[in-house]
Amino acid sequence: MTTNADERRVLDAARTELFIGGQWRAGESGATAKVEDPATGEVLTEVADATPADGMAALDAATAAQPTIAAMPPRQRSEILYRAYTLLHERTDDLALLMTLEMGKPLAEAKGEVGYAAEFLRWFAEEAVRIDGGYQIAPNGQTRFLTLRQPVGVCVFVTPWNFPLAMGTRKIAPAVAAGCASIIKPAPQTPLTMLAFAQVLADAGLPDGALNVINATDAGAVMEPIIRDGRARKISFTGSTPVGKKLLEQAADKVLRSSLELGGNASFIVLDDADVDSAVEGAMIAKMRNMGEACTAANRFYVQSGVVEEFTAKLAERMGALTVGRGTEDGVNVGPLIDGKGLEKVTDLVADAVANGASVALGGEAVDGPGYFYPPTVLTGVPAGSRLNHEEIFGPVAPITVVESEQEALDAANSTEFGLVNYVYTQDLDRALRISENLDSGMIGLNTGLVSNPAAPFGGVKESGLGREGGMVGIEEFLETKYVAIGFSG
Ligand code: NAP
Repeated sequence: MTTNADERRVLDAARTELFIGGQWRAGESGATAKVEDPATGEVLTEVADATPADGMAALDAATAAQPTIAAMPPRQRSEILYRAYTLLHERTDDLALLMTLEMGKPLAEAKGEVGYAAEFLRWFAEEAVRIDGGYQIAPNGQTRFLTLRQPVGVCVFVTPWNFPLAMGTRKIAPAVAAGCASIIKPAPQTPLTMLAFAQVLADAGLPDGALNVINATDAGAVMEPIIRDGRARKISFTGSTPVGKKLLEQAADKVLRSSLELGGNASFIVLDDADVDSAVEGAMIAKMRNMGEACTAANRFYVQSGVVEEFTAKLAERMGALTVGRGTEDGVNVGPLIDGKGLEKVTDLVADAVANGASVALGGEAVDGPGYFYPPTVLTGVPAGSRLNHEEIFGPVAPITVVESEQEALDAANSTEFGLVNYVYTQDLDRALRISENLDSGMIGLNTGLVSNPAAPFGGVKESGLGREGGMVGIEEFLETKYVAIGFSG
């Protein structure tokens, strides 16, 4: 192993079992799954691998805990979330190191994610005590309506590897705030971070069974029976669009409330009147955050002809100055991609664009192993038909296409089945408003390269998903509305 003493200590302390009904336990079959360091390809540790029976045990535990968490006074649920927020901050260094080891992102970004993930706990701690209801006089004056907001019930969560903690707290925090028990299946590449978080919530006083964590290498076999059982009443999934569609079909069987945060294909539009330095600054965040492995990552750059030369040169200079390496090392800005499949995809997409006529302004060749490294890459003259313009790159590659007008940029940006986020740089207010109103996406970054914020409604339209996470509406996804009609005789 190439781990140092700190890394060894964090790995030795890591939780590697299933967390069901408040107990840490091996899977029913005793099978384990390897967790790899994407920077070296070496095995870090092994975690329990759940069977469908373990999945059912988790559903039993969540179902048993549901009345307890639902009946808990909102202030108490809020205080559990506040305690978890504090504990997460106290444990930031170790959690971030664990995250970097299994996911690859630079340590500074992993610490940033712990802070971001913690903010969901604080935000929903504040929301837990603000769930309201209503009292209404019927139009004919003869009935009274009492409106209650009640927890939706047991929730099933499935999350990806790119933000192993924040994608979980974005679901778990509103569930706890609303009074819902849950089962979460993290991604097989990054189970350790979520298992560590389960311990945080247990230490914060969450009742046994209110959160259950199951790792499963055969995700479909373990999750489908849980989704089709009927006792869980909601599914919330973050991941790719094809898997989201499959889970939505399964959820239809028992009509589960469904929230889907799916793939993106964000455009990054820079118009002639933009402040180019600020656009480059924003592009560095929108493109390079998390090595480009983000659903919100800028996937297609549409830059107007008047500024394209300056923008390209400055972006290539900034991206070229980044240091690629193992995320645990000082000074590293770009870690490895998640696995061999991810690296192969980025390599293929770049090769396809170049074969179709794109020019390489920076990078463009995978770095030799071990590990799954791809260098910051800038491509120019990317033809519209290139796969890069239609598929999520999920890597540090910026494909730039010149556009002549605002309308051409808008049409190009909207020519995708995805609709998560688009970024626009312009200093003209009318233009900014016009383009924001006409872009088909759930979110717009206007003169900013970052839209994610626990206090804002995050989510997409078209095939990027259903529902919103965070913001004032975030808790709504976990509440049902019940109304009581009351006879009134005056
Ligand atoms: P993925 O392949 O869809 O996997 C996501 C999760 O779903 C993993 O835990 C995966 O486990 C699980 N899964 C796959 N098939 C399943 C099935 N039949 N039943 C139950 N679970 C199943 O996506 P990914 O590659 O991990 O993540 C990248 C994708 O997530 C990108 O498309 C990205 O845009 C999207 N994403 C979206 C958002 C958002 O908020 N919109 C945020 C982050 C990421 P296995 O790997 O074991 O199959």
